[in-house]
Amino acid sequence: MKWAIGIDLGGSHVAAAAVNERGKIKSRHKRELASHDVKYVVSEIAKVVEKAIEGLGKRIVGIGIGAPGNIDDKTGVVRFSPNFGWSDVPFRRKLEKRLGRSVRILNDARCATIGEYLHGTGKGTKEFALITIGTGLGGGFVCGGKLMLGNLMGAGEVGHHTIRPDTGFVCNCGKIGCFEAQASGQGLLRHAMAVAPSFPYSVLFMTPKEQWGSKMVSRAAAAGDEHGLAAWNRFLVDLSIGVANIVAFTNPEVIALGGGVGQTDDALLAIPLTKMVDELTTMVPKGQTTIVRAKLGNDAGIVGSAMLAMHGLP
Ligand SMILES: [Zn+2]
Repeated sequence: MKWAIGIDLGGSHVAAAAVNERGKIKSRHKRELASHDVKYVVSEIAKVVEKAIEGLGKRIVGIGIGAPGNIDDKTGVVRFSPNFGWSDVPFRRKLEKRLGRSVRILNDARCATIGEYLHGTGKGTKEFALITIGTGLGGGFVCGGKLMLGNLMGAGEVGHHTIRPDTGFVCNCGKIGCFEAQASGQGLLRHAMAVAPSFPYSVLFMTPKEQWGSKMVSRAAAAGDEHGLAAWNRFLVDLSIGVANIVAFTNPEVIALGGGVGQTDDALLAIPLTKMVDELTTMVPKGQTTIVRAKLGNDAGIVGSAMLAMHGLP
């Protein structure tokens, strides 16, 4: 059985694990990141990789990494990564020098798309989309069995297509009403803040406002709290607009919902969302897109980056 190392580089942590051809994970290691200094990040990555490789030796056929930002596939240069404050960092070269082996690198959301496509809910399809709804909102598309990359590796940046240009929240990217600003975990929280004055007896007010989080809002909605439900419904409306746009652009067979918020119960998320997207779908056959919770959860990135190292791009 062949194994590869998959690495998931997030804003606050780095995780690595060995993954076999069937997508099975073992030997997972994680470290918190105290800074985004390039040299430091490379050395923390090396620590988790060395641990993950232990005991597998020659059975490891490659190393892959998913990292946030726009990454030049050919040169391995991170062109820009707002989360890390990086621009034009020759990241792959630095990693290869430190690890002493070749490394494949790709945007983290695209890596997660590969993982979920090959070993999760995308298995057996040729037209697939992953939307990761966490603190931010990202994604990736597989069209005709190929991962869409775009001219300059920008395909799949669904979080920054505008859905509410006039009335939306300000996005981290500087625009107003981006899909991410409206329909990420952060978006859900902002909806809850926006409607809060109408619900003085909300269960959320048992906690100081500064400590509210998106999970509290979805829990309040699941428990039937009127404030939670009002915020959740606004969030769902915005989510359905963006997802319906994705259906119109790429007509996927399956859309998987990943990330922390994406893992919410079907009764609250996938089922109503499917109905709402259907209502917004006009020129694509209705009722033919399956919207489901992603199967791999937080492991999609690790599995996908390992598959990238093992098989190359789908
Ligand atoms: Zn944006």
